[in-house]
Amino acid sequence: MHKILVSGCLNGRPIRFNSTAVSVESEIWDRWDSEGRLVAFCPELAAGFPVPRAPAEIVGSTASVVLKGEGRVEEDNGTDVTNEFIDGARLTAQRAKAEGCIMAVLTDGSPSCGTTYTYDGTFTGGTVEGMGVTAQLLHDQGLRVFPEDQIDEADRYLRSLDE
Ligand code: SF4
Repeated sequence: MHKILVSGCLNGRPIRFNSTAVSVESEIWDRWDSEGRLVAFCPELAAGFPVPRAPAEIVGSTASVVLKGEGRVEEDNGTDVTNEFIDGARLTAQRAKAEGCIMAVLTDGSPSCGTTYTYDGTFTGGTVEGMGVTAQLLHDQGLRVFPEDQIDEADRYLRSLDE
């Protein structure tokens, strides 16, 4: 059975930077859960961040550049948290590999988990297309990554693998 790495905050745990969860109302999600496919993991908690924590954004760069060691992730007070974000991505990829996950459904917009967009590094609410650091690493390692509002598409992909 194919397993799915999912953002920990999608599974009901209020662990985002602002102590909230993201609710997913989906029969597909419930079916995946009952089938035992979900592997919930939070890269930022794995990297040692607390809840709540300062908001962070990829600054003037992209996740790919960050993973090459040439870009930065910063908190809104200017603290450089690049190494922690890379650690979180690596720990997530290790867990995905250990569990045999072949795809991921992740919380969009996060500097770790974003799959279609992230915030633009100015801490003003602006967004840019692109992935967070963890999503990018999972993608680079061959997992298909989906945002939480594309569960139907993710399920179609899963079924194509199950056939
Ligand atoms: S790092 Fe990912 S799993 Fe953790 S709280 Fe942020 S979006 Fe959710």
